[in-house]
Amino acid sequence: MEILPYRRDTVQVIPIGGLGEFGMNSMFLRVNNAGIIIDAGAMFPDYDQPGIDVVIPDFSFFEEQGLTDIVKAIVITHAHEDHIGAIPFLCQDLNRDIDIYGTKLTIGFIKKKLEEHNFEHNVNLHIVNAGESVRFDQMKVNFIQVTHSIVDSLAIFIETPFGNVFHTGDFKIDKTPIDNRHFDFAGFAKAGERGVDLLFADSTNVERKGYTLSERVVGESLEKIIASSKSKVLVACFSSHIHRVQQILNVARKLNRKVALVGTSLINAFNVAKGLGYLKIPPEVLISEREIPDFSPERLIIITTGSQGEPMSALSRIVRNEHKKIKVEEGDTVIISAKTIPGNEKPVLKIINTLYRKGAEVFYEEVSEVHVSGHASREELKMVFSMLKPRFFIPVHGAMKQLHHHMLLAREMGLHKRNIRIIEDGDVVELSKNNLRYVGRLQIGKRLIEGSGFDEVEEIALKDRRRMAEDGIIIVAMVVDSNTAKLNGDVEIITRGFILLSDSENEDEINAMKEIVVEKFYMLEPSMRVDWEYARPHIRSALKKYIRKRFNAFPLILPIILTV
Ligand SMILES: [Zn+2]
Ligand SMILES: [Zn+2]
Repeated sequence: MEILPYRRDTVQVIPIGGLGEFGMNSMFLRVNNAGIIIDAGAMFPDYDQPGIDVVIPDFSFFEEQGLTDIVKAIVITHAHEDHIGAIPFLCQDLNRDIDIYGTKLTIGFIKKKLEEHNFEHNVNLHIVNAGESVRFDQMKVNFIQVTHSIVDSLAIFIETPFGNVFHTGDFKIDKTPIDNRHFDFAGFAKAGERGVDLLFADSTNVERKGYTLSERVVGESLEKIIASSKSKVLVACFSSHIHRVQQILNVARKLNRKVALVGTSLINAFNVAKGLGYLKIPPEVLISEREIPDFSPERLIIITTGSQGEPMSALSRIVRNEHKKIKVEEGDTVIISAKTIPGNEKPVLKIINTLYRKGAEVFYEEVSEVHVSGHASREELKMVFSMLKPRFFIPVHGAMKQLHHHMLLAREMGLHKRNIRIIEDGDVVELSKNNLRYVGRLQIGKRLIEGSGFDEVEEIALKDRRRMAEDGIIIVAMVVDSNTAKLNGDVEIITRGFILLSDSENEDEINAMKEIVVEKFYMLEPSMRVDWEYARPHIRSALKKYIRKRFNAFPLILPIILTV
C-alpha cells in the first residue's frame, strides 16, 4: 500500500466508512502527531450475504500507513450500532492501549459490547458530558448536546490552530425531547461564532421536506392504538431506543397493562440503560417472560426485537409459532415501531402479511405514526447550517443520493460550489488555513464478521453459501464417547430444503450418507475423533464430496459432534 503524504500543520481527514453508503460510520482526523477516530460503526449485512452478522471497515490501513501510534483516542458521538459496532475490531487492530470517550450511556453500551467480545483489557473508557471538552495535543474536542433516537447523543466541535472542524453526529432537532435534555442551540451558535472551517453534517433525511416530528408524537399514537385494543399488544422496536421503551412503559401504566420484554438484545440494552438511570420504570408494570401466562391478553404489552424481520429475532419466532410463551392470535395488535432499513423490506413485508393472515391488527410506519425518524429533515439542516456558517462543507452519513442532495441544499444556503466537496470512504482531504485540498484515495476494504466473536468470513465462503442456500441444509449429529473414541449410538442426518425424493428413496439416500460419515469418522486418528474442531471439517468435506458427485448439489453441511 502506498503511504499517503501528510503535510505538517494541516487537519487531515480520512473518512473510513459511512460516506457513500449507510452504516459503518467512522472517520480519522489528524493534526501533526495526534489523531482521533470519530465513531467506529458496523453495517447490517445484505441479504446476499447469508450467515454474516455484521460488516465492518477494514482498519488494517492504520498499521499499513504507520498511523497506529498517532491515534490518541476514539471519540464516540452516540451508541447506535452504525457508530459503535466495530469498536472491538478496531481496538484489536490497533493492538495497543486505547482511550475511548463518550457520554455515560454510550460508554455503558460500549462496555457491554467489549464484554460480549471478552475484550476489556487495553481499553480505557472515559465518560464525558455535553458541554465539556478534552484536549489531544493541538486538538481541542468540544462535546455538544444534540437530540436523536438514542439518548445522550453528541455533536463534536474540534478546534485546532489550523482550522476548526464541526461534526454533527446523527441528530434531529426535537424541541420536546422525552428526557427534557434539549438540543444545544447555544452551543451550536457559539461554535459558529468561533468559526467553523469544515462542517460534516448528517445527510440521512435531506430529501424530506419540513421538520422531523418529535418523539413525543409516537407516544400519543401508541397510546391511542393500545387503548383501543381489546387483546394483547406486541410492539417491535430497536433495542437501543430507550425513549421508545420509556414511552411504552408510560402508556402501560396509564392503561393498566403489564409489560414484558422479549429478546436478548432488548433486555441487555434495557438493563444497561436502567442501571445508568436512563429509564423511569413505573411501579408494578414490568413482568418477566415467565409471568406472561399469568395475565389475560387484554392486560399485556410485549416489547420485542425483530422490527427488521430478522429471522432469528423474537418477533419472527413468535410469528412462526416457535415461541413457547407467546402466540399471535386473532384480535391481537402488533405495532412495528421502527423504520424498515433499506434492504429489509421483504422480510418485514412477510411478517406483516403473516400477521394479517393470523387475524392480527398491524400498525407500521406507512399507515400510522408509530415511528418517527431520529434524523433532521431539510428545515432542521438549514437551521444548523445557518448557525454554524461553515467555510467548507462535506456531507456525511448517506448514500451518494443523500450526499448529492445535501450538497444542493448547501448551495441553496449560499455556499459556493468550490467550498463543497462530495467525497466517499477513503477519499483523503486536508484542511489548512487557506484551503481544503484533496490528497488522494486510500483503498479501505470491508470485513464480513460471523457470530459474536472475531471470526472473519472470506468472500469465497459467502459465494458457497449463496449456492448452498439454494440447495438446502444437511445437519449431521453424532455423539462420541471420549473414553473409547467410538461413536455412541447412531449418526443422525436431518435435511431441510435438500432435493425432494420419495420417503423410501430418501431413507436409502440418508443411510448412504450415514455410511460415508461413519467411514470417514473411523479413518481419523482416535485421539482426533474426540476433538470436534478437528473432526468437523473432515466429516463435512467427505459428505460434501459425496453429495456433489451423487446429486451435483452444494447444500450447507453442518456437522454437530458431541463428546460424552
Ligand atoms: Zn447513524
Ligand atoms: Zn444514530
